[in-house]
Amino acid sequence: MTSGAERKLGERVARELYRDPDYIDDPVLVEYVQGIWQRLLNAARARGELTSELDERFAWTVLMGKDRTVNAFALPGGWLGLQLGLVSVTANDDELASVLAHELSHVTQRHIARLMAQEKQQTPLMIAAMLLGALAATKNPQAGAALMTGGPALAMQQQLNFSRDMEREADRIGLGVMTAAGFQPQGFVTMFDKLQQASRLNDNGAYPYLRTHPMTTERAAEMQSRQQLAPQTPVQPTLQHAMIAGRARVFSNPGVDAQRAIVGEADAAALSSQPRVRQAQVLYGAALASARMHDGPAAARLLQRLDAVVAGDAAGQRLARLLAAEIALDQGDTARVLRLVDADSKSRPELLLALQAQVQSGHAAEAAQRLQTWVATQPRDALAWLLLSSAYTAQGQALRAVRAEAEARVAQLDYAAALDRFKAAQDMVRKGQDGNDHIEASIIDTRARQVDSLLKEQALER
Ligand SMILES: [Zn+2]
Repeated sequence: MTSGAERKLGERVARELYRDPDYIDDPVLVEYVQGIWQRLLNAARARGELTSELDERFAWTVLMGKDRTVNAFALPGGWLGLQLGLVSVTANDDELASVLAHELSHVTQRHIARLMAQEKQQTPLMIAAMLLGALAATKNPQAGAALMTGGPALAMQQQLNFSRDMEREADRIGLGVMTAAGFQPQGFVTMFDKLQQASRLNDNGAYPYLRTHPMTTERAAEMQSRQQLAPQTPVQPTLQHAMIAGRARVFSNPGVDAQRAIVGEADAAALSSQPRVRQAQVLYGAALASARMHDGPAAARLLQRLDAVVAGDAAGQRLARLLAAEIALDQGDTARVLRLVDADSKSRPELLLALQAQVQSGHAAEAAQRLQTWVATQPRDALAWLLLSSAYTAQGQALRAVRAEAEARVAQLDYAAALDRFKAAQDMVRKGQDGNDHIEASIIDTRARQVDSLLKEQALER
């Protein structure tokens, strides 16, 4: 399978994942995972694992899902799926990096291309459907059972699993890449132990990762021998990672009982004698969960306790401040949001929070200006396009609002929905509802043609 064909197949799968209700673009979590992912990509480039051809052709994008299962999976074309359940069980960034590096290596070693090539009697459409079916099966056991009742379908899905040799190769190269990226090799070993323990308990339901990456005794033995070669410096968990894992846990356990349990952990008398990282994780999760249950006073008290625990730790303080701003925005206190975060920030979490506050407090023109600059360099940021759309709406610029909405669909590869919006915008121009915005009208015509040809190309790939 050529890299071009693999990329197109991957787009097909990614497009569906973007539309999945579990898909989550949380700026705080995305920024953290991206930080690790970019370090790994750079190391893979430097080591020659990531060739310039694949680097250019593939997406190299991590898509997060808010499922609580422990799962990560490499998709064709350089897309990577990561469930928040996995993020929430990692003790440090080295453990998270080890999983991402292993998946990255499946892609750079062309394991996926080899698996897909075995399916050459299938059309791309069918392979994509099979992959999506296998993914759905990892989340909801009942949906999976329904999808897999057909014997041949099940057999095909099993062929999509990596071989033992591929697993060992992804372990070996993944370990090399993460170490070169500056992560502690211990992370690979402790994450491996964690997965192996779950494997012994036969906890495949909560750990679907094990089904696609079985913990064979050979893999374990190889890991053990490599562990002896690795320097034995203990991995120090950071407050930042602990808080990120706490955030992932809240988002992946949305039920009221689960949220109450998370809040309850902050009341435990023994909490103050726990290590500082644990305290930060519990208080961060509890404040976020309280806010989600609309208990403002409790959230405020927990934020205060969190501030005391993270004092002196810059990364921890920043996450606590972002959380306070997020909660203030939720409560409509836009003045407080703008005191906490800067609209001129170059960091996406701060920027998006501040600009939302601006749009809501009658400063939509300023927000629109800043967002235009942002999407000019980040055209794939669907969240920014949607916010820009609401900034235009707030100023009565309906035509521009519809175009920004269309661009958000393009960013998530949904060309049909995008074309629909572009056509709606063209209709507005025809009816003279364009406010004489001739520049915008001509941009819309050009973009509509481009997206139309992307859509036609897609239809031919079946
Ligand atoms: Zn694997």
